[in-house]
Amino acid sequence: MARRQQSEDDAPRLTSEVPRLRTLKLSLSFRRGSVSLVESAHRRVVIVPRAPALFWVACADRECREGGHEITDAVMRALRSGEAHFTGEEPCQGTLGAAESQCTGVLVYEADATYG
Ligand SMILES: [Zn+2]
Repeated sequence: MARRQQSEDDAPRLTSEVPRLRTLKLSLSFRRGSVSLVESAHRRVVIVPRAPALFWVACADRECREGGHEITDAVMRALRSGEAHFTGEEPCQGTLGAAESQCTGVLVYEADATYG
């Protein structure tokens, strides 16, 4: 936790990475196979331009260990090329239970960006 906070403080801001960016909204949903992992399928996140240029989303499964979805590279690539709408998926690399089976949770994200 402390390490993550540190890296957020050190990370470049979205404004310095993508100066034209005005607004960014992410719509997140989680699934495993075809089953939704959370009750409300979509979660909307509004990211302000002064936020760090880091996009990491925790796994929706509370049993998951060392899981999470790192989408920084994909999101930053799309923002740098000025895409107004883009989507993607990122599987969780965490493990579940004593058998340490793979989590296999998938984050599905949909982004809407505006530029000045
Ligand atoms: Zn997971």
